[in-house]
Amino acid sequence: MNFGLTSIALLCCCILLMCIHGCAGELPSNYSGIREQSSNSPIEQFELQRRQMVEYQLRNRSIRDERVLAAMSKVPRHQFVDSSWRDLAYSDRPLPIGHSQTISQPYIVAYMTETAEIAPEDKVLEIGTGCGYQAAILGEIAKEVYSIEIIPQLAEKARRTLGQLGYENIEVKTGDGYQGWTEHAPYDAIIVTAAPEHIPQLLIDQLAINGKMVIPVGKWYQDIVVLTKTKDRIVEERTLPVRFVPMRRKFLEW
Ligand code: SAH
Repeated sequence: MNFGLTSIALLCCCILLMCIHGCAGELPSNYSGIREQSSNSPIEQFELQRRQMVEYQLRNRSIRDERVLAAMSKVPRHQFVDSSWRDLAYSDRPLPIGHSQTISQPYIVAYMTETAEIAPEDKVLEIGTGCGYQAAILGEIAKEVYSIEIIPQLAEKARRTLGQLGYENIEVKTGDGYQGWTEHAPYDAIIVTAAPEHIPQLLIDQLAINGKMVIPVGKWYQDIVVLTKTKDRIVEERTLPVRFVPMRRKFLEW
C-alpha cells in the first residue's frame, strides 16, 4: 500500500518537473533575438552586421553625412574580401586583400568620403583601388568614379567584383596613380588611399577649382591632409593620424 502511494507521488513529481522544464525552455513567441540569429540566412546576417557597423563604428564616431551612411549601409563589404576573411568583413579593422595590401577600416573609408564633400553630380578620382570597396562607396554617391591601381591582379579582381555588383559608373585603370588620370580631369574630389611622402603636384593640377583632395601624407607617421583648391590658393589642413600602405612611385610587374 505504502509502496503504491509512493509510486503515485513519484509519478506526479515527474510530470510536474516535465511541465516546468517545458515552460522554461520555450521562448515567448514575440522574442526575436536568438531565434532571428539562428534562422537568418548568411545574407541577412551580413546585413545585420552592416547595420551594426554603421551605428557603432560610424554614427557613434560622428559620421553625419546621410548619403555616406546610406552607402556604407548598402555596399556588401564582405564581397570585396576573400572568403576566409568574410566573417570579419564588418569588424572595426583593416583586412588583408592579398599582395601585402589591405582594405581600410570602415571608419576611415567613411571619414575620407565624408570629408571630400562629394555631390551627386561630381566626378571623383581615387588612387589605390585595392579590392574596390572605397570605389563602390564613391560610386554610390558620385556620378562618375575613376580609380587607379598599380598591382594588375588587384585591379583585375576589383574590376570583376564591381562589375558583378553592377557598378557602371566606375572605371578602374591599372597604372601609377602618382601621375593621376589626365584624360578625365579636372576632378571635383580626389581620394588617395596609399600614402605618398609629399602631395603629388600632378594630382593638385587635376583637381577642379573648389575641389577637395583627401590624402594620407607621411613616411612612418602619416596624417590625413585635406587640401582645398580655390581660384587663387591651395589650403591644406592636417586632420587625423593614420597608417596607410605607402604609395609606390613606378609601375612594377608583380
Ligand atoms: N581603397 C582600397 C584600399 C587601398 S590599399 C580599398 O578600398 O580596398 C592601397 C592600394 O594602393 C593598394 O592596393 C596598392 O597597391 C595601391 N597603390 C600603391 N601605390 C599606388 C600607386 N602609385 N598608384 C596606384 N595604386 C597604388
